[in-house]
Amino acid sequence: MPIETTPNIWHNGQLIPWEKAQIHVMSHVIHYGSSVFEGIRAYTQPTGAGIFRLREHMQRLIYSAKIYRMPIDYTLDQLCDAVINVVEANGVAPCYIRPIAFRGYGEIGVSPLKSPVEVYIANFPWGKYVAGNDGADVCISSWNRLAPNTMPSLAKAGANYMNSQLIRMEADANGYVEGIALDRNGYLSEGSGENLFLVRDGVLYTTPLANSVLNGITRDSILVLARQMGIPVVEQTLPRELLYICDEAFFTGTAAEVSHLRSVDRIMIADGKMGPITTALHKAFFDIVNGNAPDRYNWLTPVTVASKA
Ligand SMILES: *Cc1c(COP(=O)(O)O)cnc(C)c1O
Repeated sequence: MPIETTPNIWHNGQLIPWEKAQIHVMSHVIHYGSSVFEGIRAYTQPTGAGIFRLREHMQRLIYSAKIYRMPIDYTLDQLCDAVINVVEANGVAPCYIRPIAFRGYGEIGVSPLKSPVEVYIANFPWGKYVAGNDGADVCISSWNRLAPNTMPSLAKAGANYMNSQLIRMEADANGYVEGIALDRNGYLSEGSGENLFLVRDGVLYTTPLANSVLNGITRDSILVLARQMGIPVVEQTLPRELLYICDEAFFTGTAAEVSHLRSVDRIMIADGKMGPITTALHKAFFDIVNGNAPDRYNWLTPVTVASKA
């Protein structure tokens, strides 16, 4: 998907023109993958526009940076204000927001500590995702997710996406929409950039953070909604074959939102249709972000935008 540009990008406290947001080829991040980032959506509602769970996303960015000893010169409040600033300056919603912090141009040794930390926030129009309700055909990847003592899964780091790219390319090459990686012990982990849920006998299961998954904010939102709806929720280690014999399965993520899975390894999940619990959670999620239900958890930070896409 080509990027649709916007006029401004936020860089270290200032708005700069999109075309000026460039870095040197000898920047540390280019060579050693030293970046942490976020993906956030702003949705439109009948009464305006709102950024979904802004604070949680920027808090996670700060934690991702902390894991990699990357000092961020801005407070959580300042980072949240910066996101609002760039979204309002660019004036477009719905949109996708990409905050990123990385080690820039300084030294070219492995240690990043002497390379300056650069923070950028870009956003660009990204319309409402209208997936067919047919569901996704996915596979189990031959690539494992990061082992806990290789790369920290709780950091949303650019370098983790080398693993994600292998998972995704292999899935594509074999005619699947996405791959699900196992953890280093062979248990279900997550997709290349989505958390995994399944339903069996009315119980909602998801893989725990110890199984090399990112603490997805959409994952958390679904857990909150499920508990509030009285759906029993269990976070536990899950074997691969449970996906073959479950009643429903879906991915969550800022990009994927709530996407139901039709088959895994060409084995149909139940009758392949979106099941009742997925349907109810999907509706509860979209009712909030689209403004058709009260924002009872204050998940939306209002922004003023001139044009609604
Ligand atoms: C970003 C990401 C997700 C989804 O997280 P959200 O906060 O819901 O967007 C899941 N898994 C991985 C590996 C990710 O990088």
